[in-house]
Amino acid sequence: MRPSARPRRLAAIFPLLLPAWLAAQTRELGPQARPFVSVDAPVVALTHVRVLDGTGAPAKAGQTIVITGERITAVGPADRVSVPRDAQVLDLAGHTVIPGIIGLHDHMYYSSAAGGSMKPMLQSYPRLFLAAGVTTIRTTGSVDPYQELNLRRAIDSGLVAGPDIVATGPYVQGPGPGPGAMHPLSGPEDARRMVRYWAEEGITWFKAYTNVTREELGAAIAEAHRLGVKVTAHLCSVGFREAVALGIDNLEHGYLDDWEFFPGKEPDKCPAQWDKLGAVYGALPTEDPAVQATIHDMVSHHVAMTSTLAVIELGMPNRVPRDQRVLDALFPDAAAAIEKYYAGSGAAPNDSVTRRAFRKAMDFERAFVRGGGLLGAGADPCCLSAIAGYADQRNFELLVEAGFTPEQAVQILSANGARILGRADRVGTVAPGQQADLVVLRGDPSTAPGDIRNVVKVFRKGVGYDSAKLTASVKGLVGLR
Ligand SMILES: [Zn+2]
Repeated sequence: MRPSARPRRLAAIFPLLLPAWLAAQTRELGPQARPFVSVDAPVVALTHVRVLDGTGAPAKAGQTIVITGERITAVGPADRVSVPRDAQVLDLAGHTVIPGIIGLHDHMYYSSAAGGSMKPMLQSYPRLFLAAGVTTIRTTGSVDPYQELNLRRAIDSGLVAGPDIVATGPYVQGPGPGPGAMHPLSGPEDARRMVRYWAEEGITWFKAYTNVTREELGAAIAEAHRLGVKVTAHLCSVGFREAVALGIDNLEHGYLDDWEFFPGKEPDKCPAQWDKLGAVYGALPTEDPAVQATIHDMVSHHVAMTSTLAVIELGMPNRVPRDQRVLDALFPDAAAAIEKYYAGSGAAPNDSVTRRAFRKAMDFERAFVRGGGLLGAGADPCCLSAIAGYADQRNFELLVEAGFTPEQAVQILSANGARILGRADRVGTVAPGQQADLVVLRGDPSTAPGDIRNVVKVFRKGVGYDSAKLTASVKGLVGLR
């Protein structure tokens, strides 16, 4: 059952005064959510915990967090925050709390040679995202928007365990080679028609793709903005600066998917000379005026960027850490393929050129943030070892490797994503009044980034889910359903 409008409004006005009985009466969880819940009390206190609050501020030890119903009602040191008498207390000494991760490029599909191309993962992915600490996703390119909209409703109403879903329309793609789940646009009017239809169905973001023309992209953006929805893109045929000029809201992947630095690129055409990209981009300094002009354009037009380092790393299999959890989650045929992939067989170039270009992609993200840009992150759990949730966690490790502090990396994974989605007043930080979307980790990712993988519990709207139970329930399912 959904909370009625009245307690919601009261909660918004008096977040700290919301009585426990009022919040408690709003929860009813269905059979596909209830078995995974380990904490469901009207008032919960997390004590003796380290907090990385999502603002980028230094980690704070010895904190108490009070959750009342769906919201955080107090955060602070133990001597200043009193634990309510009726609270269920979780002593979290040795643990860290971060805000629920906001995955901005978190598809609901996975492609494997054995399991099929762009196959919806409607059973495994929602649980796996939640198990890994991801409490909000934007699907950023959908192969079945109705399934995503229906799943969003099922999760919203408590029937199914999973993250909040920002459903995305089908890819806004031009004709040419591309996966079969996309409609090839016939021109700008077709782009407008598609945006209009899906916006009316409840879609709030669109993602344009590699073969779209400037004219089609411009038409899609104008129509989307007219209807109050937004557009992001994984580009190739159109450059970042061209997209910024057309009014785009967000750009995916970053440096290595901005082909405007590629010599001889023709307008509206995707060069797709992947073999040469690494050498050209690896040799281009971040201080180059062309690179700086792109960053300046994005920042001055408030165009956010989505970091997807985990999926970009897939081009270098020997660099990707072998993750037993990924092998356990995949169905056996897909897992066998990933074992070979980890061993480096039959994969894309894994040489120093590719590594240098990857380093430049990291440098570009640092330069973008230094220049005032808003950087979020997303998993792109499309394929190979990049699967739901675990790829979001890998992003954290790679952002730290790129040179961000762990506190900044948490901010990129949470508060920045919330800002990009226009939800910063509700999610993305650990603060009184915010929705209680929280990740409880064993250890301390501010000193050991790998501890981001040690998720114990995940709170979504104040309900605590058991990460191990969620994970166990999808064993062997990724790639199948
Ligand atoms: Zn993607």
